[in-house]
Amino acid sequence: MSAATPPLPPGSVIGIVGGGQLGRMTAVAAAELGYRVHVFTPERNSPTEQVAERAVVADYEDQAAIRDFGEKVDVVTFEFENVPAETVRRLAELAPVRPNWECLAICQDRVREKTFCNDLGIGTAPWREVNSLDDLTRAIADLGAPSILKTNRLGYDGKGQARIQADTDPALAWHEVGGQPCVLEGFVDFTMEVSVITARRPGGAMAAFDVVENRHKNGILDVTIAPANIPEALADEARAIGRKMTEAMDLVGLLAVEMFVTRDGRLLVNEMAPRPHNSGHWTQDGCKTSQFEQFVRAVAGLPLGTVQRHSDTVMRNLLGDDALLWEQHLSDPENKLHLYGKAEPRPGRKMGHINRLYPLGSRPKG
Ligand code: AMP
Repeated sequence: MSAATPPLPPGSVIGIVGGGQLGRMTAVAAAELGYRVHVFTPERNSPTEQVAERAVVADYEDQAAIRDFGEKVDVVTFEFENVPAETVRRLAELAPVRPNWECLAICQDRVREKTFCNDLGIGTAPWREVNSLDDLTRAIADLGAPSILKTNRLGYDGKGQARIQADTDPALAWHEVGGQPCVLEGFVDFTMEVSVITARRPGGAMAAFDVVENRHKNGILDVTIAPANIPEALADEARAIGRKMTEAMDLVGLLAVEMFVTRDGRLLVNEMAPRPHNSGHWTQDGCKTSQFEQFVRAVAGLPLGTVQRHSDTVMRNLLGDDALLWEQHLSDPENKLHLYGKAEPRPGRKMGHINRLYPLGSRPKG
């Protein structure tokens, strides 16, 4: 893709694959820049459909629907990366697809993701590919316990994972993850989890938001603290890792990279996502340009916005019933409430989030 790729003029249609909250907030940002949004999702009345001009509601493999969607958009992007290769290939015949298939393919598959990092000289937890119970037994012998068995594909928010302790029966763990291709990861004794979101536009210009701290509960992001309370040199290193990975994939759009900070102050990449990320929601209120606006700018080939943080920010996810307390959340005028339009507050389901701003440099504790 050359630097001469012309920007999409206002009024163009951005096609988003996936109908969740990330698509919803991207669609709102796109509308602010004068674009129209079409969404392709199997889900009826999805969070994105509620704010989009048009929704194609169909299975990701429905050929007629793929054509119907792809023919009417000027660019295609994703708020959900686990889309079949063939769907992306067909869409690419109909409109530019940003980010490209290679980026999605690497991020869909933990073996490819970790190999990609290690080939770039970027550290990860020690890991082994596991395709059978025999592999698992050998991998446990190699990496020891505690360790974590993760399905190679379609794992998110701690789903598709089994903890291995010294007394765990490998056969039970193998059963727990459904006996499908996995990786076994050595358990990282981390002091903090951080992430960095890098934007890259056609032609290669990049900008990274501040490195943030992420705290998880039950494998699901609970709180993000911006900025992370880490030495500046380590934050620079995290941003350098994000840039290196983004460039190596020739990614256009956003790349979110989650990392562990080890006790001896090293960064190990845990996973990455080629799209807006939950750990970037703080930018909606804490930065001059939000991750969603930046995503739209990158995908539409516009100049990137400033990533300057104007306030320190704490983002807290609202899961399940927590979102039913919206009136209570709003009664504190300092709370910036964002809700996703989901009707059913199932336990653990991401329903919304709250951003709270603090003076720059005040280092909120979360
Ligand atoms: P994941 O779905 O891979 O992002 O894992 C969800 C959460 O589980 C991470 O954010 C960590 O808190 C924890 N976790 C995952 N992998 C490891 C690991 N290798 N060592 C320690 N903790 C981990």
